[in-house]
Amino acid sequence: MLTSSENPEHKQTDAKYVWHPFTSLKETAPIMIEKAQGVNLITPDGREIIDAISSWWVNLHGHCHPYISQAVAEQALSLEHVIFAGFTHQPAVKLVERLKELLPASMERFFFSDDGSTSVEVGLKMAIQYWYNKGEKQRRKIIAWDGAYHGDTFGAMSTGERNAFNEPFKPFLFDVVHLPFPDGNNHDDIIKMFTSEVASGEVASFIFEPLVQGAAGMRTYPAELLDNLIEIAHKHGVLCHADEVFTGFYRTGKMFAIDYLQHKPDIISLSKGLTGGYLPMSITVCSGCLAQEFNNKDKFKTFWHGHSYTANPLACAAANASLDLLIDEGCIDQIKMIERKHRAFAPTIKHFKKVKDVRVLGTILAVELKTEEGTSYFNNLREHIYDHFIARNILLRPLGNVIYMVPPYVISKEQLEHIYNEIREYLK
Ligand SMILES: *Cc1c(COP(=O)(O)O)cnc(C)c1O
Repeated sequence: MLTSSENPEHKQTDAKYVWHPFTSLKETAPIMIEKAQGVNLITPDGREIIDAISSWWVNLHGHCHPYISQAVAEQALSLEHVIFAGFTHQPAVKLVERLKELLPASMERFFFSDDGSTSVEVGLKMAIQYWYNKGEKQRRKIIAWDGAYHGDTFGAMSTGERNAFNEPFKPFLFDVVHLPFPDGNNHDDIIKMFTSEVASGEVASFIFEPLVQGAAGMRTYPAELLDNLIEIAHKHGVLCHADEVFTGFYRTGKMFAIDYLQHKPDIISLSKGLTGGYLPMSITVCSGCLAQEFNNKDKFKTFWHGHSYTANPLACAAANASLDLLIDEGCIDQIKMIERKHRAFAPTIKHFKKVKDVRVLGTILAVELKTEEGTSYFNNLREHIYDHFIARNILLRPLGNVIYMVPPYVISKEQLEHIYNEIREYLK
């Protein structure tokens, strides 16, 4: 007997009507997933696929973790949602209390929204309105890195790299100063350019993915340089906005990537790992100094922004449960184990002819392949690599010619070894 999800009609319906993200309508049929358990995605006919990228970097504790599932189920029986203007609830308050403990002491206000992109929009709007409220309306410029990815809404697209993803919208994107990405030899030039921009009195904020650009191909850069830039920005009063949407919650080996820095940002965007991969939610956190400029009865100085599902209690319950698991010693040991294993694996493939670079940062492993086309998302290797590993029941979704792993923290040594072996075989 067919279960409902094995119904071939469902595949046809999907092919005909569903529009998938980052997917051409010409692409072949997606794989139906019925269940998931730990690191495995399971199809209706029982095929198990290892999720080596935590389903777009969101899943921290493996799929259907009983502890988080239980917390969400219990929450659903008492309060599923309530308007967050004029009302509040325990799961949100508890979550803020806990994040407050984990973030730099200067962080004082927590604004909830729905996903990484909106958390970035909120941070950009906060920075711009901060200067508006202070009466410095000439401060309208945003500084970002070349190759940045901050999301797919208009503000987030504006701050990101201009490429095929946003080409049709180019005329609608606001101007952003893009700094050359650090290559080890250009730090002095970057500092010079940055200093002259922030000294102009026209810059509202500097937005960055701390230590590693995810979507650009897991490109890493030194904490010292970023620390230096934040210090310079602060000398000129410029706000610094850390986009920790990807790097948060131990992805880089520490709770937050900014924990590697001496100088702390004024705004932090959190999303992806926040709910352990259960429900969409994000939080934009800002410093008390920034929030102070909004602490005013003047209607023109209020932050008029919000979303229907702001601080959804189910998502907050998932986030609280995920944090419980995250601060447990067992989880920290796993995170350290993953980094150790990545570091042991990297030298074994570094010398391969096809390999240009291998990078490890915390639980992130990236293998950049040599290619005549140059490194880019649209590199032709992408589909080939994806298909190769899916055929071997491993979900690796390369960023162009960059193969990477960001596994759920529950992955076992054996499962890691298995993926490494398959990558090594492929590289041979
Ligand atoms: C994924 C990502 C975003 C966008 O988040 P969505 O939830 O996909 O909107 C923003 N910034 C960074 C650094 C990301 O990795």
